[in-house]
Amino acid sequence: MSYIYKKFKNIFLNYLKTHPELYKKIHGTSHSKSYVSALKISFIYVILGLVWLYFSDQIIYTLFKKSMQFFELYKGLTFVLLSASIIFSLVKSLLVHHDNIKMKLEQNLMDLNKANKDLLELEDELITLAYTDSLTGLPNKLSFELHMDQLISSKEAEHNRFAFLHLDIDNFKNINDTFGHTAGDIFLKDFGHILKQSVGETDMVARLHGDEFAIILHHIHDDHEIYATLDKLVNNLRKTWVIKGHEFYITFSVGITVFPDDGGTTADFIRNASSAMFFAKKEKSKDNYAFYSKEILEDNLSRINMINDLRKAITNKEFQLFYQPIMDLNTNHISGVETLIRWYHPIKGMIPPMEFIPLAEECGLISEIDTWVLETAFDQKKKWTQKGYGKIRININISGYSLKREGLAEKIQLLLNKTGVDPYNIVIEVTETSLIENLTTSIGILNDIKKLGVRIALDDFGTGYSSLTYLEKLPIDIVKLDRSFVKDIKDYKHISVIVQSMIKLSHDLYLDITAEGIENAEQLNYLKSLLCDYGQGYFFSRPVDTITIEGML
Ligand code: C2E
Ligand code: CA
Ligand code: CA
Repeated sequence: MSYIYKKFKNIFLNYLKTHPELYKKIHGTSHSKSYVSALKISFIYVILGLVWLYFSDQIIYTLFKKSMQFFELYKGLTFVLLSASIIFSLVKSLLVHHDNIKMKLEQNLMDLNKANKDLLELEDELITLAYTDSLTGLPNKLSFELHMDQLISSKEAEHNRFAFLHLDIDNFKNINDTFGHTAGDIFLKDFGHILKQSVGETDMVARLHGDEFAIILHHIHDDHEIYATLDKLVNNLRKTWVIKGHEFYITFSVGITVFPDDGGTTADFIRNASSAMFFAKKEKSKDNYAFYSKEILEDNLSRINMINDLRKAITNKEFQLFYQPIMDLNTNHISGVETLIRWYHPIKGMIPPMEFIPLAEECGLISEIDTWVLETAFDQKKKWTQKGYGKIRININISGYSLKREGLAEKIQLLLNKTGVDPYNIVIEVTETSLIENLTTSIGILNDIKKLGVRIALDDFGTGYSSLTYLEKLPIDIVKLDRSFVKDIKDYKHISVIVQSMIKLSHDLYLDITAEGIENAEQLNYLKSLLCDYGQGYFFSRPVDTITIEGML
């Protein structure tokens, strides 16, 4: 064997010698050893191949038939085992790969399911948020409206009578303004909670917005059930509220509509219940309620007509100013007049201000009316100055709504310039409640007015929420004691004590004080004895027209 190898090697070396460039190439590189090894391996392979061929040969086969059969069997067996192991490893790796993919897919599916579940939970949360009032946790307006829609359109609607109570807290704004918004929020939460406790488990309580709540009493058989709920509400809500150390009481108004009597759609019920609620509020009695009725419908229509008429009243020159004298209680002379507006309606005749001023405030016409009053009063003052009543002061009532708007001081400045009236003889009357609603802005505007030399009177003093607290803060010159105090001044000891301290307090703050509504000599003498500065009332004169007041001046 080694002989054959050596022979083979010699032939290879001789070939290299006859090809010096190849020889040089192989010897000159580091691969020379690899070439020789590769040569050796290929040689062995060739030899083994030849042996294989030799054994497989037909001649050998016939010579050693038996041993060849045996050999063939093992050769076949080896081949089967070898191919089986190859198949095994191939299939195994395939299956492992398949398992991996399957596992990955399952993991993805699980992730997908989880994401889907999260999404559904988020959707639920969003739906809850959209239908819940975040402060009280009660259903909100949307939820309430949907519920009403369902009740009205359900199959059982024909046999189902249900009541909708629209509930509004009276003067909730005062709680917010006086005790702060946090206290207001806590109060609303507690209020909603008590409402829920005051109705049946199946009834619905929702917060519509701000201080407005809705109650739906399902399956009403008779109106007594509604009255029973109203009683419960009054009993549970009429209490001393204590929130963040503040004690207060509240009242509320309720408008009631009943299905199917009071309308056919959710919008009807909401509109009618809110009309009934406003009607109840207007009545001004405490914890008031009103069922929607024909009367309320008519009242609504007449309000709408009044508003329409009011729009035309200025251009049609239907307003007139009346004047009531204000007496100096020291000299018994007229020191000034208060202008009081009157509306001469072409059909209804004279309408007193209390019937149309609140309406004008509601529909935004008030600033036009206030402007007309200011212009007319300034014109009158100018005429009186020309006629020689120069010293007469003129008090002009301004609505709280105009006070909230910028531009009032500018308006007065323009009129002062235009008419040349002495600003000291102009007094602007504002009510305490209108100031407190927007204290900072109001104080700013009043200061601007005062800078013009015009004086300010605080009207209806004593009827507001916390009169004495604010008196010192407000830039005012005159306090007008409300006529409710004057009325009972002699009959009730506590009222006379209050009036005494109000007069004293005003004087301590260097403010003049005018008593309103003096109707008899007894009231007048009593007020004089308490050193009240000015007085006004039917005892001296009712409000009268220009010609009559000129006669008095
Ligand atoms: P006010 O400013 O407190 O006006 C006094 C009201 O008391 C007037 O009612 C007057 O007629 C009435 N009065 C005067 N003396 C007596 C009396 O001795 N006894 C009784 N029982 N009443 C007396 P009036 O004219 O009906 O005005 C009511 C309210 O309407 C006024 O209350 C004021 O808030 C508002 N108002 C009147 N004129 C105007 C105005 O030109 N502009 C604005 N924005 N409001 C006005
Ligand atoms: Ca007044
Ligand atoms: Ca008054």
